[in-house]
Amino acid sequence: MVFILKKGVSQSAVQEFRKDWESKGFSTIWAPGTDHDAVCLIGNTSTVDMDAVVYTNPIVAYARRVTEPYKAASRTVHEDNTVITIGDVTIGDGGFTVIAGPCSVETEDQITTIARLTKQSGAKILRGGAFKPRTSPYSFQGLGKEGLALLSAAKKATGLPIVTEIMNQTQTPLFEDVDIVQIGARNMQNYDLLKEVGKMGKPVLLKRGLSSSIDELLMSAEYIMSSGCSDVILCERGIRTFETSTRNTLDISAVCVLKEKTHLPVIIDPSHACGIRSYVPALSKAAFAVGADGLLVEVHNDPAHALCDGAQSLDPEQFGNLMSQLKKYAQIENRSI
Ligand code: PEP
Ligand code: MN
Repeated sequence: MVFILKKGVSQSAVQEFRKDWESKGFSTIWAPGTDHDAVCLIGNTSTVDMDAVVYTNPIVAYARRVTEPYKAASRTVHEDNTVITIGDVTIGDGGFTVIAGPCSVETEDQITTIARLTKQSGAKILRGGAFKPRTSPYSFQGLGKEGLALLSAAKKATGLPIVTEIMNQTQTPLFEDVDIVQIGARNMQNYDLLKEVGKMGKPVLLKRGLSSSIDELLMSAEYIMSSGCSDVILCERGIRTFETSTRNTLDISAVCVLKEKTHLPVIIDPSHACGIRSYVPALSKAAFAVGADGLLVEVHNDPAHALCDGAQSLDPEQFGNLMSQLKKYAQIENRSI
């Protein structure tokens, strides 16, 4: 149930209102907005007389039942887009934020070279896996701790914030210097991990599970948010279908659906979606056109010798060309990039 507050109510009145509900065993979410602020009630609200609350609380303008199973992530509760700020980088403010980098961190030279070159072309955040969830136990599993140190070195050298995947709860202390914590597709429904990551005090990039519905993705976001993190970035990275021509099938319409259902920023990963380098620029442009808030794209300085996902990685020159095209689109639509 969400209570839309009258304009100009004092913070102390809001605090009192929330405390009152919390003393009755509910939890509350504070949802500020440009048009109006709101308080959402979480718990068994079936016995709450909505009209009575409106009549007896002078700060409440009106109330609505939130029918979606997710609350904190829902646009019904929080009308305005969530804008996530990492240093001087923003995601979700109407601009198009490009995150680029290799599938895996391999060497200091590799990661700093890619960071420098992608930054020159306009990437705002550096990606790179240190802990890699590989389908085969015999494949390269990532450099682990050492990979995180190399990412930090690349961050120091370029000033780019870094995003990297966490695979389990025991790794949280290692992620101090990481700016955005990534939950991979395979862990989207690892609820214990989601709860721990929600407590880390950092933005979270949540990838859609290989066979997960949009509502399941939103419920996973809800786990993170209900643990205290309001900065969740959703990532559509392709889903499993009967189609075998591409690694996965990019569900481009997921962006439209998510934009309606949630206030959280939505980005697209065209690389894992198709698995084929030559398709990545077209899908990236589709991401821009459909209204995604940005991209997570794999770039490698030497894709032919990449230890992971070389076939879907752009080289820095191809990435530069893509960015030039996206910048033209951004200019036409007056979006920052
Ligand atoms: C990745 O982004 O490095 C990755 C492993 O992607 P996904 O979890 O979407 O497969
Ligand atoms: Mn990859």
